[in-house]
Amino acid sequence: MHCLFIEYIGQQLTTYCTENNVFVAVFAYLWLSLSREIYLTTRQLNVYRSAKLVPKELRPDFDLKTFNKCIQYNSLRLRVWIVADVYHHLLTAFVLWFQVIPLLWRISDQLLPPLGFAANNELIQTLVFVTIGSLLSTIADLPISLYRTFVVEQKYGFNKQTIGFYAKDRLMKFVVMQTIVGAVIGAAVYIIQNGGQYFGVYLWLYSFAVTLFLMTIYPDLIAPLFDSFTPLPDGQLKTSIERLAESIDFPLKKIYVIKGSKRSAHSNAYFFGIYKNKQIVLYDTLFRDFHTNKRQKGTKSADTSESSSHQKMGCTDEEIVSIMAHELGHWYLSHALKYLAVAETVLLVYITLYSMLYQNEVLFSAFGFEDKRPVFVGLYLMFRFVFWPLNDLLWFAFMCLSRRFESGADAFEKSMKKGPHMRSSLIRLFMDNLGSPVNDNLYSAWNHSHPTLLQRLKAFKTD
Ligand SMILES: [Zn+2]
Repeated sequence: MHCLFIEYIGQQLTTYCTENNVFVAVFAYLWLSLSREIYLTTRQLNVYRSAKLVPKELRPDFDLKTFNKCIQYNSLRLRVWIVADVYHHLLTAFVLWFQVIPLLWRISDQLLPPLGFAANNELIQTLVFVTIGSLLSTIADLPISLYRTFVVEQKYGFNKQTIGFYAKDRLMKFVVMQTIVGAVIGAAVYIIQNGGQYFGVYLWLYSFAVTLFLMTIYPDLIAPLFDSFTPLPDGQLKTSIERLAESIDFPLKKIYVIKGSKRSAHSNAYFFGIYKNKQIVLYDTLFRDFHTNKRQKGTKSADTSESSSHQKMGCTDEEIVSIMAHELGHWYLSHALKYLAVAETVLLVYITLYSMLYQNEVLFSAFGFEDKRPVFVGLYLMFRFVFWPLNDLLWFAFMCLSRRFESGADAFEKSMKKGPHMRSSLIRLFMDNLGSPVNDNLYSAWNHSHPTLLQRLKAFKTD
């Protein structure tokens, strides 16, 4: 009975999964996905458009001027985002329709002899293919990235980069990323080619090991390439954070301050490191002193922008400790471990699906690969296009999980009895970063990793 059912499913798949149908399904989903984005964005933009008054829950803290500034900033960001999204969808449609991926694969093949490698070396050809692909997508993305940084963020006083710094920073990130990605993909291709019938299991174990390895080396080897980490000087703030960490047995090794201000005025705080080697990182933009000193020195950084209307920026020491209580809540509730467990389970499902389909002729020919079936290209086509609806479902599930975790960390912060600083730190961070004060429910459900400001303030209030 069971076998008959599987046979039936198999037959149906061979009947309907023709080369043409697979392509049509992927192409149709592309437009469906774009329609969803346009619909949700329009809903959110309408909320911004009709927001004329400060919601009464925010009135004690927000004046109309700050509220309007938040609306204008978020509305501009969203309009740029939707233009970028339409552009990316059109680009993807072009790539699929004109079979750009098989073309890139052939070009990579032709580049092997001039680079000094034998033809038909799939491993090296894959690395060349990935490098060209990343380079093209970085270039295609450049106009939007430049507009975001030097027009949108500049206008609201967030951008702190010069064009020279931006270019150097981007280039360095590209080189570091390509080196890591190249090494990881190279080994994955080797495993798929040589792992025999259990290659899926090896691939999954390998991906798990790579994740742990990158998490281990990131703090000491990768992060310092981009930022300098200065230890937080002794004082009241350091003592308070250490006391907080001690009270919940958080294995705190060190507290650092990084110069987030060399890129952007947005503020942030987080911790990293695995097992017993935890380090807390605070952005310099988080401190009230940073903003006060800057004003006193009269640095001209963003004087042409609208940031001068920011009256009081940065957090007090008590507010920073309250923010840290939220961050440590994530650790106390094992959120990173839970994310890892979810991600590895999802990956196991994806790799199982991939190992069932990785040599499927129909899937390859649907994307223009007639005779060759390179393993990495198969991996890319499936994870990016064939599993697209699944990716979107997972995205939504991930957003729901993330909001749940954020509420959990907020509840933890509340249980640490941070009192009025909880509310003031949340509002301070929100104002300094010009968060979105009003939100459409559907847009928010799909896009927001945190509960909205109103939801968080309400949760802080109720017992
Ligand atoms: Zn959080």
